Amino acid sequence: MTGTGTGPPEVATGVDADAAAEVDADVCVVGGGPAGAALALALVRLGLRTALLERAPDGLRPFRGESLSPDAVWHLDRLGVLDRLAPEALTVRGLEVADAGRTVLSVPFADFPHAHRFPLELPQPRLLAVLAEAAAEHPGFLPLPRWTVTGLLREGGRTVGVRAATPGGEGLVRARLTAAADGRHSPTRRLAGLPAATTPLRRDVLWLRLPQVWSEPAYRIRIRGDRHAVLLPDSGGTVRVGFNLPKGGLRELRAQGVAALLERLDQLAPELSGVAGQQIGDWSDTALLDIFSTVVPTWWQPGLVLLGDAAHTLSPVLGQGVHHALADAAALAPLAAAALHDGGPAALDAALAGYQRRRQPAVARSRALQARQERLFTWASPPAAALRRTVYRALDAAAPLRRRVLEPVYFADQLSAQEEDQP
Ligand SMILES: Cc1cc2nc3c(=O)[nH]c(=O)nc-3n(C[C@H](O)[C@H](O)[C@H](O)COP(=O)(O)OP(=O)(O)OC[C@H]3O[C@@H](n4cnc5c(N)ncnc54)[C@H](O)[C@@H]3O)c2cc1C
Repeated sequence: MTGTGTGPPEVATGVDADAAAEVDADVCVVGGGPAGAALALALVRLGLRTALLERAPDGLRPFRGESLSPDAVWHLDRLGVLDRLAPEALTVRGLEVADAGRTVLSVPFADFPHAHRFPLELPQPRLLAVLAEAAAEHPGFLPLPRWTVTGLLREGGRTVGVRAATPGGEGLVRARLTAAADGRHSPTRRLAGLPAATTPLRRDVLWLRLPQVWSEPAYRIRIRGDRHAVLLPDSGGTVRVGFNLPKGGLRELRAQGVAALLERLDQLAPELSGVAGQQIGDWSDTALLDIFSTVVPTWWQPGLVLLGDAAHTLSPVLGQGVHHALADAAALAPLAAAALHDGGPAALDAALAGYQRRRQPAVARSRALQARQERLFTWASPPAAALRRTVYRALDAAAPLRRRVLEPVYFADQLSAQEEDQP
């Protein structure tokens, strides 16, 4: 087994992923992103034979999911992988908001009294490699890279596995539970016919990466009128810049050329001017990502369950996606394992319904918070922008208020675990 690179580890499993095969498992997990990889690890730790199908040969996705919120870090600790990840991660010390050139909110994460109080920045391929490496230490792990799910196997009104395109032809996985962790477009959700309502973000977001210019690793949000940029440090000495424009604004900007982008960036983050001028030669140095959110009313049907972005795509505001992917896996694994160990199909379906009941309110809270933050970003008129600054300054001035607003975003799971532990 190898585990030091950024790709998935090679594992001796008895299944040749490159040859068409029929595989029997307790659980078939579709998608090896954060949700699927964390679920597979949690399930094999609970003694279940778990196939993990991933269509991609590696996990390289440069502009996604690098920020791990404090609760995400806590979940990784509970999965037993934090020690392996921490040495390569960057610890983020604070959050700063500047509006019209002035700092209006400054939050040191050290102020929060939780075991895991700092977000970490870590490339997602490394996170996925470590989760797979840890899962491979258990005999029940069956990784199937380059397997693309193309259909569901159904018997007696239940899903009993999947059909997949594999490097060696068609493959089948038979399992009592199929867990769809195949991301925001979720082909498995579509195959299952579970309805989903998608809402596009009302702004354009352009991503670019620039050398880090600040010594203190912090999340920085820069607002001016109805434009804003999020500046996220990463562990590789660069900063991810998410440059936000009102919907349609990007077309206008592109027509004006890269110089106009640099000028607007300069208005929001003048510290980056020098490096941006050197690094951004043309539009190919930027990436435009299609961002939307999706609400899925029902996350399960007999023998099949959704998790992560497949169940609830959130917007990237406040870096909530990976946290909810890990939290879903943490909630689903013990419920599903108990039903698979001791119960029949009815017990399994009750466990899937229980998992949705448990997780849906937390996702709804994050979604509401993101919507509030999105609205603040769009306040463009001078009075509205002044009110926005007042809101941020009020938060800045009152630590208890700051805690009330930020704890549900970053520390909800640690808080509820503390409450459950109290006699
Ligand atoms: C621009 C951007 C930036 C973001 N930044 C952050 C951030 O900093 N922090 C954060 O917490 N979140 C961030 N997110 C959100 C985060 O990336 C997602 O919420 C998270 O990756 C969801 O994990 P997942 O496992 O549910 O889905 P995914 O990560 O999308 O993984 C799904 C996997 O399923 C595989 N798959 C799909 N179809 C099939 C198939 N038919 N067969 C087999 N495999 C299949 C895919 O190849 C993929 O590997 C960002 C999102 C975007 C778009």
